[in-house]
Amino acid sequence: MAVKPRGAVAEGAAPVSEVVATLSDGKKIKRRILFMRACNERDEKGKLCCGHLKRWSDVSQEVKSKFGPDVEVYRCEHCKTLYLPAQGEPARTRHQSF
Ligand SMILES: [Zn+2]
Repeated sequence: MAVKPRGAVAEGAAPVSEVVATLSDGKKIKRRILFMRACNERDEKGKLCCGHLKRWSDVSQEVKSKFGPDVEVYRCEHCKTLYLPAQGEPARTRHQSF
């Protein structure tokens, strides 16, 4: 069973991260799953990327124009796929849910 953190909004939550946009240079922007920390892109052989998602501070103008100047973007350090925070992702705390 999936762990549901308190306060998380799972609106029709599907266990896949959807591609929300593709940039002009071909990079994909995906929506993260809650608390997801590794890239789930697959290469042409079907192998999972599993690169670490790191906060991307050098957000391009194209991304800002699509998602706003204050958008929080994470980038896979391996395949450079971009990720937006999950919808309903709560502020980072270490609280247990009970
Ligand atoms: Zn990746």
